[in-house]
Amino acid sequence: MKADFYETLSVSRTADEKELKSAFRKLAMRYHPDRNPGDDQAEHKFKEINEAYETLRDPQKRAAYDQFGHAAFENGGMGGRSGGGFADIFEDIFGDMMGGGRQRRGGRQHGADLRFNMEITLEEAFTGKTGQIRVPTAVACDECSGSGAKPGTSPSTCPMCQGAGRVRAAQGFFSIERTCPQCHGRGETIADPCPKCAGQGRIAEERSLSVNIPAGIEDGTRIRLAGEGEAGLRGGPAGDLYIFLSVKPHEFFQRDGADLYCKVPISMTTAALGGAFEVATLDGTQTRVKVPDGTQNDRQFRLKGKGMPVLRQPQIGDLYIQVAVETPQNLTRKQRELLEEFERISSKENSPQSAGFFSRMKDFFESFGE
Ligand SMILES: [Zn+2]
Ligand SMILES: [Zn+2]
Repeated sequence: MKADFYETLSVSRTADEKELKSAFRKLAMRYHPDRNPGDDQAEHKFKEINEAYETLRDPQKRAAYDQFGHAAFENGGMGGRSGGGFADIFEDIFGDMMGGGRQRRGGRQHGADLRFNMEITLEEAFTGKTGQIRVPTAVACDECSGSGAKPGTSPSTCPMCQGAGRVRAAQGFFSIERTCPQCHGRGETIADPCPKCAGQGRIAEERSLSVNIPAGIEDGTRIRLAGEGEAGLRGGPAGDLYIFLSVKPHEFFQRDGADLYCKVPISMTTAALGGAFEVATLDGTQTRVKVPDGTQNDRQFRLKGKGMPVLRQPQIGDLYIQVAVETPQNLTRKQRELLEEFERISSKENSPQSAGFFSRMKDFFESFGE
């Protein structure tokens, strides 16, 4: 009769993750084989502690255990007993403290996280979109349900290491522990590997996923799709898929948060006489911008609510139009005559900035003579 997992760890049935970890840590330190050489009882206890902790730390397994007891993990249960598991946990918690450098067990390995780079246009960031992406990944083998064993057979505990994944060998006064050469640390052997996945429990596959890009998303956003990464080895938990999103630079608009900026060249005469121009905006409409007479270079016009939407918020940013006054080039004789005539009849009132600037500059120069 197997001991109750909660009793094994001396915790209540409502213990949280932290209590479990601390109880496990305390007991594992006490019963670790390195501290109890040759003590079979301590070793047995150590294995029990590991198994109890391995089950209770996993919310899914814990729920199954709470409901069905040990029966949850017997044949046909939730993936059964995993040989290499305890070493993984042990190293996760103790790390280098116990000498480190030990090889990670290959039993139920967590699948790798995947990174997928996705580029969208500013228009797509404006409206949001649902995109289909194809991700090369590894999925659990359907033939063997991820066990790696040929259907109808199941992996068996490694006879050489009895599932520990490690073997000890005495060398003089020392006892050396190394990865089990028969199962390569997995703790189990597969006599008849599944032909479809060659015993790996997973197969390479290109998977199509639908990704929802919300309106207002920013360049550099990382979207995490939990459990959509690579399948774990032999039924191990899957990794996550991270989508790294970048927004392509736009020909007309620069973005700063929810605001957009657009530089618009206008002619010298429009700036002087006044006028108007149309700008196309990301919502697919056009907006007329009025230019008052005497508009200076770099002047900004704010178009309220014509910027980007804010992620999951109702507000919308603004569009700032900055005009760049273009000096006329390639003048005809007639144009030159007209401008020369204009120059002749101009006064300081027509260009107060430059008139004021040069008058102050002159004062500054003359101050040296005093
Ligand atoms: Zn398979
Ligand atoms: Zn072995």
